Amino acid sequence: MKAAVVTDFRSPLEIQDVPIPEPGPGQVLVRMEVSGLCHTDIHAAHGDWPVTPSLPFVPGHEGIGYVERLGAGVTTRSVGDRVAIAWLGSACGQCRYCIGGWETLCESQQNSGYSVNGSFAEYAVVAAAFATPVPDRVSSRDAGPLTCAGVTTYKAIKVANVKPAETVAIFGVGGLGHLALQYARIAGGFAIGVDISDDKLAMATELGADHVVNARDTDPVRAIQALGGADVAVALAASPQSFDQAYRSLRRGGRLVCVALPADNAALSVPIFDTVLSGKTVVGSIVGTRNDLADVFALHAAGRTKVIAVDRKIDEVNESMADVLAGRIPARVVFQF
Ligand code: ZN
Ligand code: ZN
Repeated sequence: MKAAVVTDFRSPLEIQDVPIPEPGPGQVLVRMEVSGLCHTDIHAAHGDWPVTPSLPFVPGHEGIGYVERLGAGVTTRSVGDRVAIAWLGSACGQCRYCIGGWETLCESQQNSGYSVNGSFAEYAVVAAAFATPVPDRVSSRDAGPLTCAGVTTYKAIKVANVKPAETVAIFGVGGLGHLALQYARIAGGFAIGVDISDDKLAMATELGADHVVNARDTDPVRAIQALGGADVAVALAASPQSFDQAYRSLRRGGRLVCVALPADNAALSVPIFDTVLSGKTVVGSIVGTRNDLADVFALHAAGRTKVIAVDRKIDEVNESMADVLAGRIPARVVFQF
């Protein structure tokens, strides 16, 4: 099968012909139809984070495809089921996090396209229990980006506990941000899109953003404070400066949700005095659970969200990553197999 393989953190990915993996006990083999390209895949391929994947590996965690074979003991999925392969490739199901509804915090989790091979290949194996079914009314092309960009921002809006008429500032209107602002509005909030690209801000407006701020020519902190400040700021841009701006755009009682993962283990410096006196919250939010993904698919099936994506072939993986890094992709790249 064809796969995009990371062989070295400083070299381009290689399109290789590799054996089709065997589904182990409890796993299914999925024939890929599409896979979205997430910024995390780029960080993974470059070895940007404190914990790096073992080489060689296949990135990808927005995979949508059909179950082709069942491993031993699988009873919950059938051949022909259309399923999603998400970042949460498996979790133990028995620790306090798994039992408490926080399987995304499981210390024994495997991550697709990072600790185990992911969806940038014609086939991938995944734990049957974590191969989330995709409803008929959600196209595979839309399901791909929903599987990480969607569930991650949906969860961030839930973690922020956005209430009706609250103001939600979305820092970074790309693959994640274009969905974050839709979930903020579904929760009843007013959405402010912040980015440095006028094209992305035009897309944000089209998707229902109540305000947009171009941080290249306007100080977003001043602009958002002039509107009364944000009740919630969601940091989706992998630039440490934008985390700082997101924090400072908060009003009293505001919540900063940290989602993007800048390279080099960057730190956020938070003023203690202001955090205490203004009753601010800083919280991290990592992807979402299988239930969250099912919610995301249900909202999309009901016509409540819109996915913006461009189609590419997996052979174009390196050019596509370069285009994402250069800001040339409005929202998401989806590889078609
Ligand atoms: Zn992702
Ligand atoms: Zn666990």
